[in-house]
This record gives sequence, C-alpha cells and structure tokens, in this order.
Amino acid sequence: MSRIDSLPPLKDVIEAHGIAPKKALGQNFLLDLNLTARIARAAGDLSGADVLEVGPGPGGLTRGLLAEGARHVLAIEKDSRCLPALAKISAAYPGRLTTLNADALDVDPLAHLTPPIKVVANLPYNVGTELLIRWLTPAQWPPVWDSLTLMFQKEVAERITARPGDKAYGRLALLAQWRCDARIVLTLPPEAFTPPPKVHSAVVHLKALESPRFAADPKVLERVVAMAFNQRRKMLRAALKGLVPEIEDKLIAAGIKPTDRAETVDLERFCALARLVAAK
Ligand code: SAM
Repeated sequence: MSRIDSLPPLKDVIEAHGIAPKKALGQNFLLDLNLTARIARAAGDLSGADVLEVGPGPGGLTRGLLAEGARHVLAIEKDSRCLPALAKISAAYPGRLTTLNADALDVDPLAHLTPPIKVVANLPYNVGTELLIRWLTPAQWPPVWDSLTLMFQKEVAERITARPGDKAYGRLALLAQWRCDARIVLTLPPEAFTPPPKVHSAVVHLKALESPRFAADPKVLERVVAMAFNQRRKMLRAALKGLVPEIEDKLIAAGIKPTDRAETVDLERFCALARLVAAK
C-alpha cells in the first residue's frame, strides 16, 4: 500500500474508525493512495484552487487532493462515521480542509468557496447524475467552477462523452458538451474499489467553456432535447409534434430531416432548432 503522507494506510483508518462500507450510501472506497493522487492530478494544477469534494468517506481522495497541493478542500460527507478520520486529515494539513456533515443535495457549497474552484469527487452512485445536472445548469454561465473531475459508473461516463450515433448519445451528452469540453481520463475495474461494485467506473473531466459552443436559450434547448430523446426511436417530426406549429419546416430550416431520429442529430443542429423554436 502506497504512502503519500504520514497518515496511516486507509485500510487501517477504516478498521480503526469502524467505517464498514454501506451499500445504501454508495460506499465503494478507493484505498490505493497512488490512484487517488492520480485522480487528483487529472483535475489539473490544484495549487491555487479551492476544491469541492462530495463524499470523502475515509478520505483517500481528500488526501490525494491535499498532497497534490489544493489550496483548500471543502468536503461534504453524509456519513458521520467518517468525521473522526477526516478530522485527522485536517490536523495533518492545518487550515486546508473543512468538512461538512451534510447531504450534498441539501447544501450549496459552491457559494462558500473562492474561485478558482474545481470540483473533484468519487461520487456516490445514487446522487451522481443529479449533482452533475445541477452543476451543468447554473443560472449564469460561465459557472463559478472551472472544472469537474468526477468518477461515475462507466456507463454514465459514456453518456456524458458520447457523440451522435453512439448508443449512449442523448440528453446528458448534449447538456455537458454544449458548454464544456468533456472527456474520460481514467477507467477503473471493479477491483480498484472496496468492496468492488458490479460495474466498471470511469473518471470524466469537464472543463467549463467561457461561452456555449453555439447560441441557444438554455431552457428552450433543454426542452427540445428532452422531448426529442424522450421517444428516441421515433422520427423527429413525430417526437417533436406539438412542440411548436410547423415543426417540420423548423426542422428543415435547422438542417435536420424530419425523418431523422434524435440520436443522429449533432449539437450544432439542436442549437439551430432551439433558436428557431424560440423565435416561434
Ligand atoms: N471519496 C471516497 C473514496 O474515493 O474512497 C468515498 C467514495 S464513495 C463512492 C461515496 C461517498 O459519498 C461515501 O463516503 C458516502 O457516504 C458519501 N455520500 C453518499 N451520499 C451522499 C450525499 N447525499 N451527500 C454527501 N455524501 C454522500
């Protein structure tokens, strides 16, 4: 087991504090500190940045982030059993780790951080997608965060980075890629975790663009895309029927064949369609 600091190995930390993993909390821990440091490095230079970490658990990734030089880490953990272990990390890195014992869905921690802000997390599976959608749809763009470096089930990571024609292409890919560069930076087998989950996992790095790739009203684009993929097997003239009058003309004006299916249409043409729909 590797050492990146003078704290005990994670296996001993888990044992000493009685943090037996709970399935209901999505607790699949990373115990290899080389690996957690690698994930921290995938977020880029942390030295001048505040980092938000959701679900630090016993603190493997937290230790990676601090060892890689994060200016400050705000870690939000729902499971109070993890607090003593996190307190020891905080003592080893004075003034650089704040822990909040809360449900990440109930708090808006980004408001308490100083830019530049990076979000880095091995997310609990049950809340990962919901948190991602919140971070991708703030009231203002660019958002307060610079980048998101997030571990998901591989299948979710593929939905975020998919291209037109891919099986995983849909609402999540369009939402993410409209205003971010999104790529998978690391794929991990189940054995990397304790206990091993049933599926492979992957780390996605999303870098916020200064402005969206193509102009569109966020709410209209979201509505068009949701409706188009809600019935992804249908031709778009049928899937989008009722969205606005004369939808076929608008599809054609956006460069989309009314007989096309949503899964073949790229971001640029969805944005063109959203502009035409907004113009009524
Ligand atoms: N970061 C640790 C690691 O990489 O080993 C733990 C990752 S584990 C996949 C997910 C963590 O999120 C667990 O520690 C769990 O208790 C915590 N968690 C689950 N739901 C949460 C929520 N709603 N808000 C905050 N933390 C949550």
